[in-house]
Amino acid sequence: MLTPLGLSPSFGFGDRLGLATPGHIAAVRGTKFAPIFAQQSVRENARTGRTPQQVMDDAQRALEAAKWDAPWGADADHLKALEDIPPFVEAGYTFFTVDPGEYVDNSADTDSLDRLRQKIMGFNWEELSALYLHEDGGQAWGRFAGESLMRATLKYGKAIQHAVAMFKRLSEAKDQFDFEMSVDETDSPTTPLEHFFIANELTRLGVRFTSLAPRFIGRFEKGVDYIGDLDALDAELAKHAAVTAYFGTYKLSLHSGSDKFSVYPLIAKHWGERIHVKTAGTSYLEALRVLAKHEPDLFRKIYSLGRERYETDRRTYHVSAKLDLLPNTDDLPSLLDDFHAREVLHVTFGSALVEFGAELKAALVKHETAYYDGLKTHFDRHLSLLKEQG
Ligand SMILES: [Zn+2]
Repeated sequence: MLTPLGLSPSFGFGDRLGLATPGHIAAVRGTKFAPIFAQQSVRENARTGRTPQQVMDDAQRALEAAKWDAPWGADADHLKALEDIPPFVEAGYTFFTVDPGEYVDNSADTDSLDRLRQKIMGFNWEELSALYLHEDGGQAWGRFAGESLMRATLKYGKAIQHAVAMFKRLSEAKDQFDFEMSVDETDSPTTPLEHFFIANELTRLGVRFTSLAPRFIGRFEKGVDYIGDLDALDAELAKHAAVTAYFGTYKLSLHSGSDKFSVYPLIAKHWGERIHVKTAGTSYLEALRVLAKHEPDLFRKIYSLGRERYETDRRTYHVSAKLDLLPNTDDLPSLLDDFHAREVLHVTFGSALVEFGAELKAALVKHETAYYDGLKTHFDRHLSLLKEQG
């Protein structure tokens, strides 16, 4: 049943090839997670040449074959502009992730006080200071002083206004839907106090949101584990969870959630049931693992194209792999366990699909059992770490 999932713990299975859903079903069945089986961003659709309707159809076909009858969702991911909305509404999506990252002013973190005072004139400062600068004791996530409120307002104020506009447009088109605001792809991390500000402003402005994706500290790169100080992240995630518990109306959402094995126990401990995790690239990498084992010639072609395209294709992603650090090996499956090779293969998926898409899909159909088994094993590892309680 395709439906909004509300506050249930949930897990997003992006599938760029349209062939992975049977493996996703096998992994998620019997867990506490409500699945998102169709999930694609506007950027991914552009790179895979698929439409929101095709992504939906591919998921639905697999769900019918597997006789899935529990709730599931479809996520229109990283919608940036009003005109991004209609094709996803028409295709029946239930979860809308709005990314107002282009409206986030990252320089507000470091602007001088004079500059802050100039910039704040575009906002209703009197109202905001009356709302946020009162004399209550501090909360776990801190409290505002004049300067920090100015920085938060400038950093996220316009992004919040854009999210409100997107929510209004969606509300005109649909009665019931999950709404997420994500700022995960911005340069500067979202402090717990800024998270409080965003949640409070959205609530005050009438946005009924199901989840929020802050930009957390450290690096959440695609298809590889967390890079950063885990103790610092642990403390930070606890404070974000305190903000969420204060409101009690939404979940925290982890984007680029593939392969963040060291982080899952922390979010399971702090966020509990109020959790949404998005993955996408890792299902593509599992497809390449099948090729590395069973179709080495095709894998070699894709890997070689990836090395050619990496410096260009990486520009819209936060990745740090280096071509000169790629391992020199004939053991092709081992490349899928190497940090640099994974990122190179991951961010060049669009180029690989343009060049070898048909061959790649045919190979996966031929080796479908291996693909589904690989996906199940890989996602079992994700989901079991996410349900552990600390
Ligand atoms: Zn994201």
